[in-house]
Amino acid sequence: MSQHKVSLVKYEKPLDSVRRALDLCGGLDAIAPGDKVFLKPNIVFWTRLAEFPKYGVITTSRVVQDVVALLAERGVRDITIGEGMVLGRPNDRETAPHAFESLGYAELGRRYGVKTVDAFTRPFREVDLGDGMKLSFNVDILDSDVVISLPVMKTHAQTMVSLGIKNLKGMIDVNSRKRCHSADPQRDLHAWISRLADPFPRVLALQDGIYTAEMGPSFDGIMHRSNILVASWDVLAADLVGARLLGQDPAQIPYLVHAASRRGRDTSLDGIEVLGERIEDLARPHQWCFPYNEQGTLPLPMVKRGMAGISYYKYDSSLCTYCSTINGAVLSAIAMAWKGEPWNQVEVLTGKMMRPSGKANKTILLGKCMYQANKDNPAIKEMIPVKGCPPQPEQINAALHQAGIMVEPAILANLERMPATYLKRYEGKPEFDPGLFRVE
Ligand code: SF4
Repeated sequence: MSQHKVSLVKYEKPLDSVRRALDLCGGLDAIAPGDKVFLKPNIVFWTRLAEFPKYGVITTSRVVQDVVALLAERGVRDITIGEGMVLGRPNDRETAPHAFESLGYAELGRRYGVKTVDAFTRPFREVDLGDGMKLSFNVDILDSDVVISLPVMKTHAQTMVSLGIKNLKGMIDVNSRKRCHSADPQRDLHAWISRLADPFPRVLALQDGIYTAEMGPSFDGIMHRSNILVASWDVLAADLVGARLLGQDPAQIPYLVHAASRRGRDTSLDGIEVLGERIEDLARPHQWCFPYNEQGTLPLPMVKRGMAGISYYKYDSSLCTYCSTINGAVLSAIAMAWKGEPWNQVEVLTGKMMRPSGKANKTILLGKCMYQANKDNPAIKEMIPVKGCPPQPEQINAALHQAGIMVEPAILANLERMPATYLKRYEGKPEFDPGLFRVE
């Protein structure tokens, strides 16, 4: 007899498809009308400055709306939607309400009394996750009776996939997020992520695969219209199925291996009953990380353009979210500054674990963590520190200029506008429907 039911359905119609996905895995019967229900969509980024593509990055409002409608149908009245999105300015209290309004959550408030929570305006409470590992979670999700995790089905450059468990990282405070990207091999990112669902006794996962992302988690990935929904009352079982649908072997995904092992399980589908479609009919390969050269010293597209005199080592799991957000833009700025003349053996170190090669003439230490890890390292000939946490655009521009890489300052200064430049990828492709990110 199977222990864990996971439903796998094709998204075909508003409301009906989500209803079928939930019904197949046991439905909402386990939720009492008086329960406090917390919905956690994935809004990894938002900006008020420009329209930008949300496909494969942000949970569709279609799925959020359908879940709320089904909860309301069941008589549930206490529904909260919450997120702690990654924002450039820590005291920004305007962007989250703008996101909630634009995605239609405010309309769900008017129709169903749904509350919205910007996690950073609310208290956090420390939770002991065992083995001395502690993270501080938003109190609203902790005090809920039921958590519904609504991730986008995406690959992730550090954790390989980002699904129902990883989605809950948005509910911890900034210091906890930084802690997750530890340099300690026993308590690395994967070990922390594997415990994120542990504080919650009842978690329903509904993976939104209307759009799926290759090379996620952000806008620069390759997005597919996949029309998949995966649901389960066992968040690990759902993640194991979701990973397979993204063409990944769960046994190779460290956070899934950790999560399974702590539950006395493994990453196989033994004990999991998949209802609805067959995984093999809907799975599609999704590349999870951007390609680098064999030495890991430069992204492949930069190598192919013949760039020389620079090593920008491949990020590792200790590079936290806030530095990650900048990292891609720094690489783009450097690529645009290339004029065909080799730079003066510059190396750029990021995260918390990298060490200088001893061969570079100039070593940029990007971020406070890298500076602290290497500030006394004798292998550095000329140190160019960028001490911010996260490093600020002006500091990075100045450091690159000092290294002789004459990047255009506006590229990093206008970081928030960069996602808008990806809009043109979707022009003339009707399967990419912005209407799915509004409440109808
Ligand atoms: S310097 Fe970067 S990697 Fe280190 S904690 Fe700050 S933002 Fe994170």
